[in-house]
Amino acid sequence: MNSMPGRSASDLDALARDLAEVTQVERDAPSAPLTTYRVGGPIALLVTVDGLDALLEVSARLATYRGPVLVVGRGSNLLVVDGGFPGVAVRLGESFERVVVDATRTRTVAGGATPLPVLARQSAALGCRGLEFFVGIPGTVGGAVRMNAGGHGSDTADVLVTATVLRLGDDASRVLDRGDLDFGFRRSALTDADLVVSAEFQTLAGDPDAARAEIDDVVRWRRANQPGGQNCGSVFVNPAGDSAGRIIEACGLKGLRIGGAAVSDKHANFVQADPDATAADIVAVIRAVQVAVVEATGVRLRTELRIAPEGPPDPSDEMAP
Ligand SMILES: Cc1cc2nc3c(=O)[nH]c(=O)nc-3n(C[C@H](O)[C@H](O)[C@H](O)COP(=O)(O)OP(=O)(O)OC[C@H]3O[C@@H](n4cnc5c(N)ncnc54)[C@H](O)[C@@H]3O)c2cc1C
Repeated sequence: MNSMPGRSASDLDALARDLAEVTQVERDAPSAPLTTYRVGGPIALLVTVDGLDALLEVSARLATYRGPVLVVGRGSNLLVVDGGFPGVAVRLGESFERVVVDATRTRTVAGGATPLPVLARQSAALGCRGLEFFVGIPGTVGGAVRMNAGGHGSDTADVLVTATVLRLGDDASRVLDRGDLDFGFRRSALTDADLVVSAEFQTLAGDPDAARAEIDDVVRWRRANQPGGQNCGSVFVNPAGDSAGRIIEACGLKGLRIGGAAVSDKHANFVQADPDATAADIVAVIRAVQVAVVEATGVRLRTELRIAPEGPPDPSDEMAP
């Protein structure tokens, strides 16, 4: 299995029939309900899997598939272009949403589909400290490992011990240590074909009330400082030693609008979508910001947002000094 393009509709129909023997499949599934941007084209074949046995069987049946693959979490950092995603997208079902704390309260294991706010609240209620920061990040455990999600002074790499990862096409998962994942700022070594089945986090035994108070602080801060509505959180990775939001604001780009998408007036690293926006509007705003910033400052902003499949090229690539 690899990520090369080019599967015909009849190939995908045949694959859909094969996978339907094992799990829930949908051809040309709308992507908008699967992402926090709430826009985007159809996913050629959406596969939703519950239970480890079914997941391993689906993976094994993808061994000979040669088209693009995508793992979808809560879509809080994902935009599918208006033309749609031409391959197979795999989504973990509810059976992968679970949090287990060990007796010493120093290890918490969570399924790959567990929403991060649920992980934060459940581990805190059981007297585990260290995962409170996840409450403000509206993704899943799998998405957090792939993206090294973080905030409030912590990130996933700080608290992860191991991740159980299935490479789609394989018939068995592997347990990877934190060191195997080569974490960087909002990135990891995982590829589009790697699916995080579960993750083990390191915690400290502590007072549930103190953990809850910290969670309340994070929630308050988010409400005060971040816009609501349709967005993906921060669009751009912070350049080393600086903040993308600060640079975009300094360039006077707050409020920059193209069609139904605009740079947020509240937080310049957020691009908001109107209910009638298209994915192309969002990408156009992103590219316009990249060009304006590189022209004004020489800084090349890279997107944290995953655009699937690859969006149009970033014109600022060729403009950076
Ligand atoms: C309002 C808002 C605030 C946000 N604040 C923050 C923040 O403070 N810090 C931060 O880091 N991010 C933030 N984000 C971005 C986002 O929540 C994180 O990147 C999150 O980790 C994405 O998880 P997801 O499940 O939504 O992944 P998706 O958006 O579904 O996917 C993102 C990437 O992860 C991959 N992926 C998803 N699930 C899995 C899996 N099980 N196995 C392997 N790969 C997987 C996808 O293939 C894709 O490459 C914010 C987003 C929003 C909308």
